Amino acid sequence: MTTIEVGLGARHYPIRIGTGLLGDAQGWRDALRGGHALIVSDGNVAPIYAQRLRDALAQASGTPIHCEVLVLPAGEAHKNLDAVSKVLDALARLGATRDACVLALGGGVVGDIAGFAAACWMRGIDFIQFPTTLLAMVDSSVGGKTGVDHPSGKNLIGAFHQPRAVIADLDTLVTLPSRELRAGLAEVVKTACIGDADFFEWLEAHADALLAADTEVLTHAIARCCRFKAGVVERDEREAGERALLNFGHTFGHAIETETGYDALLHGEAVAIGMVVAARLSAQLGMGDDADTERLEALLKRLGLPTTLPTGFAPDALLARMHLDKKNRAGALRLILWHGIGRAEIVENIDATAMRAVLA
Ligand code: ADP
Ligand code: ZN
Repeated sequence: MTTIEVGLGARHYPIRIGTGLLGDAQGWRDALRGGHALIVSDGNVAPIYAQRLRDALAQASGTPIHCEVLVLPAGEAHKNLDAVSKVLDALARLGATRDACVLALGGGVVGDIAGFAAACWMRGIDFIQFPTTLLAMVDSSVGGKTGVDHPSGKNLIGAFHQPRAVIADLDTLVTLPSRELRAGLAEVVKTACIGDADFFEWLEAHADALLAADTEVLTHAIARCCRFKAGVVERDEREAGERALLNFGHTFGHAIETETGYDALLHGEAVAIGMVVAARLSAQLGMGDDADTERLEALLKRLGLPTTLPTGFAPDALLARMHLDKKNRAGALRLILWHGIGRAEIVENIDATAMRAVLA
């Protein structure tokens, strides 16, 4: 097992990465303070893994814990306030007091909803992330961003609320559909693109092992992403600056997702396309060069990810979506571009003509 500490003063917490972690409460039981726990999961994950968590909790030493399971409908289309209400209702039924703990068992969708509900209940109770998708293990479960979508855009409703622990059990990836695994690899590539050119090279060398979900290789990749993200979050928890770099490929990606209605492309797939668009735009603006864009495209393709916009997209529709992005300030478009692999930068006031040209 690998442990990475996220150092946020009194709110510091461990990220544990390994196998057999769900069934062994030793690594996370001490994160529960009171006598109530609510496992929040979805219709795909709960039937396979919720009992493992319940059993581990029942067998753990310490005060007995009253534990219930709430099963939400799976999928980004259900990441809304209605789902948050369901979690709050379940907490009420459980009689959850301020020392209760929410155990988020699932992908990024479950983690975002459950974490946000935990942030709201009695102005904030504890929660633990048990990510079961690669995407959630390398990205969304770390750093305390929680929230849900609004019909007008992704993640527009939310709160910063750090978990008490992140427990990434690689055993759960066995049942993850391979398309979801590949989507998670897009966020792994993103990490390398932002600030770790050596890691990018490592990914090129290990692409086949990653696709085959080799445990050792995946553990290394997950740990590297978590370590990188923990560092960024420690320096800039609330995204006053540097943390925005983690959105490389995301402004385009979110716009693509919203335009397609969240179901045609997975988040990671939209981010893969978004990163290529960002790299192209960088080259167009004289920042990065075409050779790096080509390397990025080649790696994404090897990982089975899309690299071009779906047909039928109007550049202006995408631009309009992008203007609603949370990273914008005072109406000016803010994007994450790069100077090449491993060197991302926040750029403001980008020329709309260059943008339209790249999107077209
Ligand atoms: P993400 O983590 O990419 O944000 P979701 O939370 O929507 O995405 O999870 C992606 C899909 O994979 C959902 O349908 C979810 O139910 C399913 N899923 C999550 N984890 C697993 C797993 N370990 N095994 C099987 N299916 C899973
Ligand atoms: Zn993302």
